[in-house]
Amino acid sequence: MAKSNQPVLEVTDLKKHFPVRKGLLRRTVGYVYAVDGISFTINEGETLGLVGESGCGKTTAGRAVLRLIEPTGGTVKVMGQDIAPLSKKELRPFRKQMQIVFQDPFSSLNPRMTAGDIVGEPLYVHGVSSGKERQEQVAALFERVGLRPAQMVNFPHQFSGGQRQRIGIARALALGPKLIVGDEPVSALDVSIQAQVINLLQDLQRERQLSYLFISHNLAVVEHISHRIAVMYLGRIVEHADTRSIFKNPQHPYTEALLSAVPVPDPAIKRQKRVLQGDVPSPVNPPSGCHFHTRCPYAVARCKVESPLLREIAPGHHVSCHLR
Ligand code: SF4
Repeated sequence: MAKSNQPVLEVTDLKKHFPVRKGLLRRTVGYVYAVDGISFTINEGETLGLVGESGCGKTTAGRAVLRLIEPTGGTVKVMGQDIAPLSKKELRPFRKQMQIVFQDPFSSLNPRMTAGDIVGEPLYVHGVSSGKERQEQVAALFERVGLRPAQMVNFPHQFSGGQRQRIGIARALALGPKLIVGDEPVSALDVSIQAQVINLLQDLQRERQLSYLFISHNLAVVEHISHRIAVMYLGRIVEHADTRSIFKNPQHPYTEALLSAVPVPDPAIKRQKRVLQGDVPSPVNPPSGCHFHTRCPYAVARCKVESPLLREIAPGHHVSCHLR
């Protein structure tokens, strides 16, 4: 199948600021700068890994892209169309193109519905098919994700964690989307099962030219599935490059620190362990200048007052640090 040149997803200066309200009158006294102006694109058949510690804004970014929460600013173009200003009705056709797979396959599946009904629900809601035709489509989806059609009558609690995530993937595939946002889709699974689910996602990508925004706190997990990686810290992207460059030649001190925690399978290779000092600062009152300066071992006076821009330091390799 020929690839389209148009990005499937083009995100520009996306922001999500949550108001902090206090007192009887619930006055706004500040904002949580969960996502503070991030930009990236994802092409057809491509995976972008979005990585960072918990609280860095990556999950909020994924939800704002899908408009499961309303962005505060920026544009989100899906197949060239900005979906940010669309009404719910206008958004409907785009909902088919964009789906999500959640982290916890148990709480994201309705325990009172059979697995077959869960997977068939999007087909019902969007009026795609009904009756026997829908049953056949659901059975085919079950087979494609490695489940038996006979299991369609079972309830979520009758499946293992890995099987439940396969149900979540089948549901996401039902409407034939272009883009799937995976929000820590394998984090709750055992390591051996993680590999199986990642292999399934990669097979589906090749087969259907799917694009993935793969959100994870774990660089080791995104390495195998991502073509490019964007590293987020306190609502901003601090480094963005192809996966090989991120792993072989990380340029941002935060990426270096995240990488130093990733186990290397070859005992001959030793990475210097860098333990990050302190916790991620609050996004309500982020540090001045470079948000990372309170934890950065290389910080200089300039870092406290001046916010570094995300600059392209080599073709396709973007870094936000005064020292690069
Ligand atoms: Fe560290 Fe300064 Fe670079 Fe920020 S700008 S990452 S504080 S050296």
